[in-house]
Amino acid sequence: MQNADIRVLTDYLNSSGQFATSTFARARPDAQGNWIYSSVNDSNHRLGQLMAYYWIDNLKMTANNTLPNSWHVTGKNVGVYSMCYDANGSFSKNQGLGVNAFWTGKIANFACMSYVGPFESAFDASVYDHEMGHANVDYGTNGQITQGNYAISCSFSSGASCCPSASGCAGAINEGQADVHSQIVFNSGIVGEFFLNNRTGLTGRDAELNQNLTAQTMFNGTAVNPANNRTYGQAGQEIHYMGGVWGTAWWTLRQNLGAAISDKIFFAHIELLTGNDTFKTALNAILSADQTLVTNGVFTTNHRSQILAAFQQHGITPP
Ligand SMILES: [Zn+2]
Repeated sequence: MQNADIRVLTDYLNSSGQFATSTFARARPDAQGNWIYSSVNDSNHRLGQLMAYYWIDNLKMTANNTLPNSWHVTGKNVGVYSMCYDANGSFSKNQGLGVNAFWTGKIANFACMSYVGPFESAFDASVYDHEMGHANVDYGTNGQITQGNYAISCSFSSGASCCPSASGCAGAINEGQADVHSQIVFNSGIVGEFFLNNRTGLTGRDAELNQNLTAQTMFNGTAVNPANNRTYGQAGQEIHYMGGVWGTAWWTLRQNLGAAISDKIFFAHIELLTGNDTFKTALNAILSADQTLVTNGVFTTNHRSQILAAFQQHGITPP
């Protein structure tokens, strides 16, 4: 359950929000070498531990097999709390927290998954891929992705982060690229189906149903959520929703170019991102990464026109 990149941990937040040492047994193989655990009534929550280790390692192999040295979490000793806090517990109730997962940033250096009763978000590998996508871009940019003009406070909630305009912001790029890590592993444009227990997954981020979605309509709040046929309203300015547009544009490119090409461009562009990027400047970074892959002999020709067309479909154009 650990290697030089990640350590799967079972400590959890107690009622005062401090990490408490758990007595959960760590997942181990049985005498036959099999790793078999129940998803229900396992007081040691070992399936969640196993899911964490297996799928994060799978994401690493997928990234490095797509383009060498694409997994920037290598050797970083990231803590992964497979059952970080109980969304029914007293700490969560005090804080008003619901089911959630997060990456803390590379200084605290851990990812956290919560659970609700018998439902453990640690059973949703797409959420792991999202959180570790944050870790990958954080290390890949040496922390630059969260610096500068990353996002602003939302007008409707000071605790939430929004982009200042339909041109997007690094916060939305960060959320969208995290979803793309999941798209690549599962070859699916939907993130968090199990997490939310519905077929469209996390709201605003179903790239397969959002093919007509644009950054402007999401920012304006007039875009329609395909899951319930309602408009997003002012929530559309929030970085996860704006990130849904960014992730959808990548999904469109992936459908048009094929995964073998699009995924290489994706992993090649990560190191070029900064916290001052908008959708427009990040699109230039994508074009630049594609051209570098030509220079390096990975591609024989660039994909400039297809990249521009895919992002244009979602209202994203160069500066
Ligand atoms: Zn995120």
